[in-house]
Amino acid sequence: MKREYPCVEVNLGKITHNTREIVKLCSTKGIHVVGVTKVFCAKKPVVKAMLNGGLEIVGDSRIENLKRLEEFKCRKLLLRIPMESHAAEVVKYSDISLNSEIETIKRLSKAAKRASKIHNVILMIDMGDLREGVLERDVIDLVKEIISLENIKLAGIGTNLTCYGGVIPDGNNLGKLVMIKKEIKDKIGYEIPIVSGGNSSSLYAVMNGTIPDGINQLRIGEAIVLGRETSFGKDVPGCYKDSFTLKGEIIEIKEKPSVPIGTIGMDAFGQTPHFEDRGIIKRAIVALGRQDIVSEGLTPLDKQVNILGASSDHLLLDITNSCNLYKVGDVVDFNMDYGCLLRAMTSPYVKKYYVD
Ligand SMILES: *Cc1c(COP(=O)(O)O)cnc(C)c1O
Repeated sequence: MKREYPCVEVNLGKITHNTREIVKLCSTKGIHVVGVTKVFCAKKPVVKAMLNGGLEIVGDSRIENLKRLEEFKCRKLLLRIPMESHAAEVVKYSDISLNSEIETIKRLSKAAKRASKIHNVILMIDMGDLREGVLERDVIDLVKEIISLENIKLAGIGTNLTCYGGVIPDGNNLGKLVMIKKEIKDKIGYEIPIVSGGNSSSLYAVMNGTIPDGINQLRIGEAIVLGRETSFGKDVPGCYKDSFTLKGEIIEIKEKPSVPIGTIGMDAFGQTPHFEDRGIIKRAIVALGRQDIVSEGLTPLDKQVNILGASSDHLLLDITNSCNLYKVGDVVDFNMDYGCLLRAMTSPYVKKYYVD
């Protein structure tokens, strides 16, 4: 099949393998995995590959993505705190949502009533990372209010760490989350089924055995997709790190100086660039740019190729030291970090291909 560039090639077998490894690792601690699909825009072949790895529930931050997955019979979790204005869609297209605003939960209850449904809610508690979640001191009163709502089931409590504040999940913050579950039982007599202990950063605590007993759900995206936990960036044992490959086509190759000629002002993004003089170098331009990628998050598979920079539509490479004799029309392969993968999967200019 003729390919168009730029493109991302997804190895579905590796995604299934990674999912299976992580599901197995977590099950040794009694933890269920929610497979998070947002970084690849919930593309159906990848979702299917994840489900083949033994997942029963997928999570996404966008209700539009969950709506597109309606045909998949798995349970669906909405990760981002819902917009009040989306209450009807949230109830329709997700089985369970993460929440932190009582007025929104009331709206969900009303929408669920109209749809003759019971909607499941996980109450998010901020354990210090300062993104979403209610404060600990408000939990008991909120739980009382939530369990009194007619068409809502309080299915769990949860937290999110290492997203805004960079806070590492540990026995202290996750231990406290488990304590809150006990406190709810003691004070109100309500048994909380799910304790959702974070994202791929909590996998580190699973790997080294310090995840507190009582955490029974993790919401995992990056570790499945890139094979690494996100507290310290350590590899997850037995997982592939190259399930996604970015490919771009070379449109120009010239020997030119390493330092621009003339007075240096601002680049295309308002920054003043700096250059090291390495004489004449062999430079390649790839038809890829910041509309498609985050150049800082790209790693060429050819270790002798260096990235010089990128503007909106041009990626500049130094190919001076490469053993490959590149020519115009050749395709260059890259690995991507999370931010770059997110951009590439979201860019309408980047084609997506799936291989087994
Ligand atoms: C994105 C997200 C996750 C998954 O994060 P990864 O680092 O990709 O595992 C989990 N929970 C919430 C609330 C999220 O927004």
